[in-house]
Amino acid sequence: MINEQYICKNCILIDGSFGIELNSEGICNYCEDPTYKTTNWWKTQITEEMKENGLRDWNSVIELMRSHQKEKKYDCIVGYSGGKDSTALLYTVIHDYGFNPLAVTIDSGFIPDIAFENIKDTLKKISVDHIVIDGAKETFRKLYQWVFTNQDSNDLTLTRNLCDNCGDLVHSLVVREAMKHDMDIILFGYSPDEIRRYFYEIPQHEIEHDWKPSFINRESFTEEDRKHYTTPEDFENHTVPRILLPYHVIDYNEEDIIQLIESKNLVKKGNSNTLKTSCHVIAAALFYDLNRFGALPYSLQFAELIRQDPSIRKKWLITLKHLTPMIREGKFNESGVNFTLEKIGLSREAILSIVQNKVNQDPNRDKIIRNINLF
Ligand SMILES: [Zn+2]
Repeated sequence: MINEQYICKNCILIDGSFGIELNSEGICNYCEDPTYKTTNWWKTQITEEMKENGLRDWNSVIELMRSHQKEKKYDCIVGYSGGKDSTALLYTVIHDYGFNPLAVTIDSGFIPDIAFENIKDTLKKISVDHIVIDGAKETFRKLYQWVFTNQDSNDLTLTRNLCDNCGDLVHSLVVREAMKHDMDIILFGYSPDEIRRYFYEIPQHEIEHDWKPSFINRESFTEEDRKHYTTPEDFENHTVPRILLPYHVIDYNEEDIIQLIESKNLVKKGNSNTLKTSCHVIAAALFYDLNRFGALPYSLQFAELIRQDPSIRKKWLITLKHLTPMIREGKFNESGVNFTLEKIGLSREAILSIVQNKVNQDPNRDKIIRNINLF
């Protein structure tokens, strides 16, 4: 295969993108040195001890919720996006643990119809109170618009910048809802590979601190936007709820999860596919990043999985070769890309012209241009 010399022989990372260089043996920095760090990725070392401690805590949280079950209407909040993991978590919390959660969906305005279809299908099968919080749609839109327009880094990917900022707003909104109902426990179905920022629990000091990004004080944002974020004052007369990510410590197997939710008819066959349920903004962000950095941000995550299990390298390499040209042309979830760009008021040409300017000023310019067209 042509151009394979630019791809790490051990994983799938590409020389010259995201601060990666191949050595004379064709091995990337991450494969050579497990402690290698860049702005976008570092290996979060999860030790057996961390897992055991997390699991012990999770079991004690379950006990605690059981002991308070009669006092409260809801036992906990489950963040519910309509994706496979949150669907499975919701089902498990109700059926395996016997709890009565409040399912909370944050509608950013950029959620694919399939995710909503999944939510509808699931709610026909399980009995649970569900609310959709859609009061921050305009803030989400402005947030995305700001990041797409002002992204300025030779390292940090737009996808990561966007997901982190969006996550902070989502977490803030859910915490606020929890406090409204006087609830102490919030659960999210983050999968075991989503550990870049948090492992098992979002630290209390992060929940208590002000989640607002610095740019929210710019003139394009208003007090309405800022009020969606919790601030330290909100917790003066309230306990800080705990946000837990149980899939980081309890058994998790992707195939079992898909099998579970499809066999219980919670979602239609095929609708558990992450590519179908992830938000439309991601599709546009990947289009931006590929044309900006010459590689897919997700390849960093895939590469980590390959290092853990080399037998899956071939599968991911094929996926990468298949997805790259589609994403480069904006044809991967094309309607999602168009939807996003239209809502944030940027054309495809405008994005390409922004990224071309940035590529031209990047010290890694030549390799990036080569990598954009590698597949
Ligand atoms: Zn490698």
